[in-house]
Amino acid sequence: MRGSCLCGLVKYEISGSPRPVVGCHCTQCRKSSGHYVAATQTAKSSIAITGQDHLTWFQSSQTARRGFCATCGSQMFWTEETSDNISVMAGSIDGDSGLSMDRQLYPDDKGDYYALPEVAVVDQSTLK
Ligand SMILES: [Zn+2]
Ligand SMILES: [Zn+2]
Repeated sequence: MRGSCLCGLVKYEISGSPRPVVGCHCTQCRKSSGHYVAATQTAKSSIAITGQDHLTWFQSSQTARRGFCATCGSQMFWTEETSDNISVMAGSIDGDSGLSMDRQLYPDDKGDYYALPEVAVVDQSTLK
């Protein structure tokens, strides 16, 4: 699986099978994405990122940071320093992903202007 930012300076390639897509409606995801976040996830050891010079990492909470292209602003990644995994924004995948969204996080924080996708709502703590 390959992906890239809008301008193409940041690219990645994932080996193996990334997780199904999870939607997150928390305030941080809504602010940073402009809507809500839909992301797959893979082991950090299974992703090769090129153009890292063009990535900016924003520390969005005490434990997590978000990576975006400094040129075009595309959100690409979310990760916790203590985790072996990295979330990859599903919209950055090039071509068909072969994935499905199967879970929703923080439904209570969602915006009032849209309906939740009709897939399961789960507690964030069960995702680890
Ligand atoms: Zn870019
Ligand atoms: Zn979130």
